[in-house]
Amino acid sequence: MADCDVAIVGAGPAGLLLACVLAQHGTSVRVLERGQGRDDRSRAIGIHPPGLAALRAAGIEDAFRAEALTLSGGTVTSRGLVLAELDFAAGSEVLTLPQARTHALLQGRLAELAPDAVRTGVTVHEVIPEGGAARALVARDDREGEICARVVVVADGVHSGIRDRLRVPWHRKPGRADYTMLDVVDAPPDDRARLHLEPDGVVESFPLPGRGRRWVIRERAPAQRTAASFARTVLARTGFDIGDTGDAEPQLFRAGQHSAGRLVHGAVVLLGDAAHEISPIGGQGMNLAWIAACRLAVALTERSDRDAALSAYERVSLRAAAVAQRRARFNMAMGAPMARVPRSSRDAAIRLLARGASGRRMLGAMTMSGL
Ligand SMILES: Cc1cc2nc3c(=O)[nH]c(=O)nc-3n(C[C@H](O)[C@H](O)[C@H](O)COP(=O)(O)OP(=O)(O)OC[C@H]3O[C@@H](n4cnc5c(N)ncnc54)[C@H](O)[C@@H]3O)c2cc1C
Repeated sequence: MADCDVAIVGAGPAGLLLACVLAQHGTSVRVLERGQGRDDRSRAIGIHPPGLAALRAAGIEDAFRAEALTLSGGTVTSRGLVLAELDFAAGSEVLTLPQARTHALLQGRLAELAPDAVRTGVTVHEVIPEGGAARALVARDDREGEICARVVVVADGVHSGIRDRLRVPWHRKPGRADYTMLDVVDAPPDDRARLHLEPDGVVESFPLPGRGRRWVIRERAPAQRTAASFARTVLARTGFDIGDTGDAEPQLFRAGQHSAGRLVHGAVVLLGDAAHEISPIGGQGMNLAWIAACRLAVALTERSDRDAALSAYERVSLRAAAVAQRRARFNMAMGAPMARVPRSSRDAAIRLLARGASGRRMLGAMTMSGL
């Protein structure tokens, strides 16, 4: 007999959002998380219109709007010259909120809907599909056990151990580069994203709620920087002084892209970064996970033909991931270090693309339209 309808491995943004949507529909869920429930890592900040729609489906959009900062648009420059000014239309705005707050809001919502759903300190070692159900083998402290569910959703992140145990192929996709980011807490008020396409590589900056600002720089090679060397590089490339960095530490990350060969294995289903890794340049991985979570919730509450509904989930989600990966790859290529001649062609192309109908398409790609 099943312990619950749906067991979810991982209480990241993908697992928590799915749990909220399912709990709202009266499905019994259990979320198994090896950590202790807090995630202070500085990662996602951008919430795009389809991500907001997913939060609406989970009944939590208003709480996000109340805390997040709404961007008015983005400005693209190259050596001080404006190449494009893109303004978000009403209803298609992008919000920013540090992932730690996103995590806390989702946890709070799930606690309202299903107070006992999350089990922290539980590590899932293996998930075994069995006929129309699945078993998760778990360990908590020194005790081992198992949880049976109609479906087990694997949302244990990009380094998914369960995906490896299931022997799911993990295909590398084009788009790979090194970046360093730094979040400063006291920046001048500004509600625009700013992309500086500079000869030595892009510098991006995004406002955060409460006068914060995230700065990201493209590296030619992985470099462990101090806040002072980070600030010097931004100043040298753009002329901008990022201001007081307080005790913030720059964080190096390698942007890469992968997709799982399959998402559905009988009653075991992959979701979020465990299913596809999207380069953070363009900021779409968490949003894509939420869009997929809503799609999966529909498939899991399908009464007539669950297998067909899950196949459709797999097909549509992998297609959406491929589109997001192509867009992220384009963003990364635009921000690569560049010599004078290709740079002038790139700048001219961006000026042209930002106008009229192609400008609207560019804005659509930036705000995850069609995914
Ligand atoms: C620098 C950076 C910036 C980013 N910016 C953006 C952005 O602006 N917008 C955007 O949309 N995305 C962004 N992303 C991507 C985003 O952070 C991820 O797509 C998102 O966190 C994926 O969520 P997830 O729930 O799938 O996985 P995770 O957030 O990795 O959560 C997985 C969870 O599973 C748990 N777990 C792992 N193994 C087990 C196990 N065996 N048993 C139990 N629990 C387990 C982990 O402890 C963790 O809590 C960014 C990423 C980075 C690195």
